[in-house]
Amino acid sequence: MSEFAKHPTAHRARKRFGQNFLVDQSIINRIVEAIDPQPGQHIVEIGPGQAAITRKLIHAMGLNGSIDAIEIDRDLVARLTHEFDDSKLRVHQADAMEFDFATLPSPLRVVGNLPYNISTPILFRLCEFESRISDLTFMLQKEVVDRMAAAAGDGERGRLSVMLQYRFKIEKCFDVPPTAFKPVPAVDSSIVRLTPLGTERLQPQDETLFAQIVTTAFTQRRKMLRKSLGAWMTPEAWTEISVNPQARAEELTCEEFMAISDWVFGKKASTALR
Ligand code: SAM
Repeated sequence: MSEFAKHPTAHRARKRFGQNFLVDQSIINRIVEAIDPQPGQHIVEIGPGQAAITRKLIHAMGLNGSIDAIEIDRDLVARLTHEFDDSKLRVHQADAMEFDFATLPSPLRVVGNLPYNISTPILFRLCEFESRISDLTFMLQKEVVDRMAAAAGDGERGRLSVMLQYRFKIEKCFDVPPTAFKPVPAVDSSIVRLTPLGTERLQPQDETLFAQIVTTAFTQRRKMLRKSLGAWMTPEAWTEISVNPQARAEELTCEEFMAISDWVFGKKASTALR
């Protein structure tokens, strides 16, 4: 018998796991509507918590629906396995940062009200499984969602914007006020959907190099590119690829970052041949 079955007391929210539980039923309904789960789809929820979203997802999927859930908190796992039959909810007690999403059938729909303290690392982790994902629908800090969706020229644009936008279509669905949670967080939240661009997406010749260049440019975001990327590019290279060397990182499109990265890749390859 699980600990919860023996001692069914109220759960006390744990700060270290970013536990702010959704309590506003109309917001939960809107989230489920935004996910629009269909029978036969494969849904995995990160951090189901007390099942606020999970319960409605299972209901919406009907008789043939089942969900995988990844929850780190042992006490919550005990509650979830107590409430739901394994045929409806398979609970994996694990850290989502370490979970191997390739063990689940694809295409995968990943959803969750993510713990704010690890939301950006989880997004980068999920990029590793991009080809297996059909979409991601997440609740995140509003400020993070605004950064994710920021276009070239927008002051909020950063490494996260470029590294996600070259892989995913990013749509902000709606904002959620702090009063929708218990305990009430200090920040506003938003629901965002990411859909992999698939074959449409940019294909830098070397994705590790692309990531390095984007990171370097944004680490020195106040500097002009000719300074921040001076170690990679020759002065003539900028004209060759039609990118303004006086621009700053936040002004560049993903295509322009790829042009820089591919130019550096070509130079490295031709140097190696000599
Ligand atoms: N989905 C619930 C809701 O909307 O009320 C809970 C959301 S709460 C913001 C975040 C949930 O993620 C908690 O249940 C927490 O225990 C879980 N969590 C935190 N860190 C995690 C991790 N690294 N891996 C998996 N779950 C995690």
